[in-house]
Amino acid sequence: MEYDLVIRSRRTVLPDGTRPAAVAVRGQAIAAIEDLGAPLDAGRDVDLGDLALLPGLVDSHVHVNEPGRTEWEGFATATRAAAAGGVTTICDMPLNSLPPTTSVAALEEKRAAAAGQCWVDVAFWGGAVPGNEKSLRPLHEAGVVGFKCFLLDSGVPEFPPLEPAELRSVLASLAEVDALLIAHAEDGAEIKPASGRDFGSFVASRPPIAERRAIEKVISAAAATGARAHIVHLSAAECVAMIAGAKAAGIRLTAETCPHYLYFAAEQVPDGATEFKSCPPIRDSVNREALWRGLEAGVIDCVVSDHSPCPPELKSFDSGDFGAAWGGIASLQLGLSAVWTVARRRGRTLDDVARWMASAPAALAGLTAKGQLAVGADADLVAFDPDETYVVDAARLHHRHPVTPYAGRTLTGRVRQTWLRGMPLLEGEGEPSPVGRLLKRG
Ligand SMILES: [Zn+2]
Repeated sequence: MEYDLVIRSRRTVLPDGTRPAAVAVRGQAIAAIEDLGAPLDAGRDVDLGDLALLPGLVDSHVHVNEPGRTEWEGFATATRAAAAGGVTTICDMPLNSLPPTTSVAALEEKRAAAAGQCWVDVAFWGGAVPGNEKSLRPLHEAGVVGFKCFLLDSGVPEFPPLEPAELRSVLASLAEVDALLIAHAEDGAEIKPASGRDFGSFVASRPPIAERRAIEKVISAAAATGARAHIVHLSAAECVAMIAGAKAAGIRLTAETCPHYLYFAAEQVPDGATEFKSCPPIRDSVNREALWRGLEAGVIDCVVSDHSPCPPELKSFDSGDFGAAWGGIASLQLGLSAVWTVARRRGRTLDDVARWMASAPAALAGLTAKGQLAVGADADLVAFDPDETYVVDAARLHHRHPVTPYAGRTLTGRVRQTWLRGMPLLEGEGEPSPVGRLLKRG
């Protein structure tokens, strides 16, 4: 046999556009891309017909929380949810696990915790906190995909924020090795305390200017140091123009937004529905439209989940108090459907979605074998029915806790099969097993 696996689809989403094609896999990598009907000698030949064939998604923003807060989520549950949602690579955030990933020893602890229980490939972010500057280069050399920092209280005491002077100094250190800094960009000075069941009051407590002031600091520090910086979970669309301006000026800045900012609008959030709480918040429908335009214009580079679950008790469902509830939205398994549901209505294509959710986050994290259907890349593949609709049943998600604001929503586009490096994850011969690898940058 020349190939182990061939997958044919009339809608194969390739880097240069969608067309009928056959993707041939040898070992764990894509070995050839041929015409749809090409005769190919393969151990297994799968014809998807009209189902689309997408590159496996890369979700560069996932809080797995293991070790230390494994009751919030964990590698087994998160990666199983990822596989079901068409995500074949996740990058785990450095905070909310204990210890946080702010030293090589902590990274080793996390890799040990993850080993043997991952259903998809997993890469790791390091953390930049006050006082760990000496750990940054060793972490970089140990293969983290970059460094996360906060510019305000992170919500957990073991991961404190950087002051503006520290931000600049960290960026200067990272510039020496061309490492990436990703920033939670909200300015605490612009945020008011919030309490109560009214979502509008919560949104008003974290106004767009809080994001704007923090992004200004990141832009000025990136400009001064020449370092690469990235804004995570952009919510305030008024910042799109500023980010576009920085990019046009040659500052090495990128930005992401999340499915919940593109799907929901604050007006629709019921009182006390704390499953919708995230920081920064979901804003109004005018903001959502402007965020979409920023994404469509290429100012916002990628769409990743910021999957940040917690046990239901921490969501304060009894009181419905937005001040007390943990801020984080669980959506790892649903991001592709949520984004596609709106994107197709807007006339966008699967090429756009593959760019926002696979190739751009892979490039951001420096995962060169991931995120596209190309010869030599890992054979991470997704069979996707772009026309099928379904109602989200939270109890059927693989997330550790059945809590998500998408519960009961009708979404369009369903993952039918996921292959990780050529291995089927959802159904196939034999019992699937957790074959995910722990990745290093590159
Ligand atoms: Zn996050």
